[in-house]
Amino acid sequence: MNSPFEANAPATAPLSLLDVTLEYPDGQGTIKALDSVNLRVAAGEMLSLIGPSGSGKSSLLAVAATLVRPTQGLVMIDGTTASDLNDTEMTTLRRETVGIIFQQPNLLASLTAVEQLMISDHLRGKPLKAAKKRALELLEIVGLAESARKRPHQLSGGQRQRVNIARALMGQPKVLLVDEPTAALDHERSASIVRLLAQVTKEFSVATVMVTHDTEFLALTDSVATMRDGVLGAVEMAGV
Ligand code: ADP
Ligand code: MG
Repeated sequence: MNSPFEANAPATAPLSLLDVTLEYPDGQGTIKALDSVNLRVAAGEMLSLIGPSGSGKSSLLAVAATLVRPTQGLVMIDGTTASDLNDTEMTTLRRETVGIIFQQPNLLASLTAVEQLMISDHLRGKPLKAAKKRALELLEIVGLAESARKRPHQLSGGQRQRVNIARALMGQPKVLLVDEPTAALDHERSASIVRLLAQVTKEFSVATVMVTHDTEFLALTDSVATMRDGVLGAVEMAGV
């Protein structure tokens, strides 16, 4: 495929989409949200996905996250072909390999930051003590060591998005899928969120895809590709 990271992306790249098409029913006919999309993202690579509204960016993330099955084509995550799995197996694969970050952090109002993270490990059946240790480490990495005991209403929008990022990393994902993480933030906070995502992509060697409107932050990421009418353009180096 056409990633500049091709040389470093063996067949076991954490995320591959092979000829993926997704159609939604639309009145009498169908609408093609994704049209024969090929994509490979290497470990430690952060790809920015841009393109007009309605071009299929969120659809690409939904298919890569195994939240939606493609009409055609293969989604491979961490060496496993998702389309070969039944729904239960697919949920397990997602829980163990994919971190998902959407625009709105969607935190539980009554829980502290550290509890938000612990609960995601608890749902994976992990022991609480280990979960707490990892949660505190991750909060420190995202710059929230001092805010571990704060609840969402005591945090700023940027801090809430940092909790969201730390929570997505709790399951030690191989793939991080991020949909417009800065849409609700001012310029300065947006830049620091994108910088943080680039940092954790390297630090944890995840394959990250970030949908963004903020073309000014592309240089903080490794590569960029544009969606148009469900068609994914060539992946290029960002900032060149
Ligand atoms: P983007 O994220 O780039 O704005 P989307 O992936 O959300 O684009 O949408 C791509 C196309 O698929 C649009 O035409 C949209 O209306 C359509 N679409 C997205 N989700 C659904 C759905 N759940 N049901 C039907 N059509 C959908
Ligand atoms: Mg979208």
